[in-house]
Amino acid sequence: MNPEISVSNDPCQPPQRENAVAASFRNLLNGGKFVYGAELVTTRGIPEANGPPKLVELGEALAADSRISWVSITDNPGGNPMLPADWLANILKPTGKQLVIHLTCKDLNRNGLESAAWRYSAEGFHNILVLTGDYPAAAGFQGQALPVFDLDSVGLITMLKAMNDGMEVSRPNGKLDRLPKTDFFIGAAVSPFKRQERELMPQYFKLARKIRSGAEWVIPQLGYDIRKFHEISLFMDWAGLSSPIVGNVYVLNKTVAGLFNKNRIPGCVVSDELLAMAEKYAAGPDKGRAFFLELAAKQLAAFKGMGFAAGYLGGVHTADAFAKIIDMAEGFGADDWKEFAKEIQFPKTDEFYLFEKDEATGLGDRERLNESYVKSLKTPPRAGDVTLSYQLTRMIHSLAFTPGKMMFPSLQKFYGRLESGGSRRTLGALHRIEHASKSLLYGCRDCGDCALPHTGYLCPRASCSKTQRNGPCGGSFDGRCELDDKECLWARAYDRLKYYHESAEIFDGPPVVANAALVGTSAWANNFLGRDHQHTTPPDKPSQS
Ligand code: SF4
Repeated sequence: MNPEISVSNDPCQPPQRENAVAASFRNLLNGGKFVYGAELVTTRGIPEANGPPKLVELGEALAADSRISWVSITDNPGGNPMLPADWLANILKPTGKQLVIHLTCKDLNRNGLESAAWRYSAEGFHNILVLTGDYPAAAGFQGQALPVFDLDSVGLITMLKAMNDGMEVSRPNGKLDRLPKTDFFIGAAVSPFKRQERELMPQYFKLARKIRSGAEWVIPQLGYDIRKFHEISLFMDWAGLSSPIVGNVYVLNKTVAGLFNKNRIPGCVVSDELLAMAEKYAAGPDKGRAFFLELAAKQLAAFKGMGFAAGYLGGVHTADAFAKIIDMAEGFGADDWKEFAKEIQFPKTDEFYLFEKDEATGLGDRERLNESYVKSLKTPPRAGDVTLSYQLTRMIHSLAFTPGKMMFPSLQKFYGRLESGGSRRTLGALHRIEHASKSLLYGCRDCGDCALPHTGYLCPRASCSKTQRNGPCGGSFDGRCELDDKECLWARAYDRLKYYHESAEIFDGPPVVANAALVGTSAWANNFLGRDHQHTTPPDKPSQS
């Protein structure tokens, strides 16, 4: 395949390629026919010099299989450095197969991500799955890499959507320019396999924020509970969202089941019950192969039966195994999936569901929200995190920091006068007071673009390993951060907001993207003077106090 290239006269603008393949992936997921995709993971290190590497052979065999509609290529999974996804995508492009590239926020800042996105667009790769990404593993060169997380998944989706709309940029001469539009078909992940309400509900609400920000298709994390997969579609209906859902299957073996069970691959969940079953079958003569393949096929059949757009298969190392699983899935009877949906339910003890169980189907009942959840919304419990200092902070914020209200206009004028009068010493003293008090209360890192009003007054720089400003990543485990060194900030924020009957609106605002130009400056001044993320006009560089 040789896509046509049209080159703009403006050397600053990237070449635009016509790619019928990308458009057809969008059509495939929206076409009403259940389709299958396969996941490929690249390798660390250059491929073997003699002959095509096994990975390329596998990719080409999958591309040649008409049962598989697309191949998806991961981006440094598990936080490990690998060959970039578009290395393999470029090799597979001549096959004409639909290709999806994963793009994560852990290794590149927003400029690196934008640059990667322009490259993918120029290379003809328009199907992008956006993920926050796993925290870098300790397997980098001479130790662990510093994670980036300049944007989170919502920020990256917002940026790709802006590129699709024709991104506006300032030129060196100060003029605003609109770049050519891209045609990304943006996918988003959701992690429903969370045991606690305070983890699960922020996941669902964040999914809604991702879709509002520009995501057009959805893929859940890995888990083995069809009721939870089904609940995603119930939640989306409930929230008035309608994007195609791709069911996700990873073919287990005993080792992987153990890793998932211990949360060694963040967000991928295997319960103790399923682990015990995996260990029992793995002790058999075929090491459990038949059981694991059949489990994967049954999951795919359940996704199809539930009306998902597609099934996506990973953890398979031969094209034959992919084909065998899909054949098995297609070979079941039309209603067999209903039994599989009941059979493949391996929740953790006390797992929270948003919808009550329909005893007839074993799935969620779309007519009945979880009764104790509904009751708790009316009389929310006071969680330990609803501290006196949190309550005081809320009061002060509503008095002084709510635009247009109470003391805000006077403080706005006051800061405006100080800046226009060049009162640098007073501004510096106020900044020092601000930073000292916020350090004491929140562990403030002086980012200058304060997120506290959106995070239940918990500082993401101090209390979130990935500095997430738009909701939780998928890695939390039983309410704790994927690094297991603290409670998840977002579970705590949910508890705080729920006490004030605000949990359902937790992510209703526009996406929050911090501006690094403000680091080391007064967040109060930046807020009053319209320079922080809460204001839509591009900020001026503040004076350093
Ligand atoms: S978000 Fe920024 S300004 Fe606000 S408390 Fe954290 S580091 Fe400080």
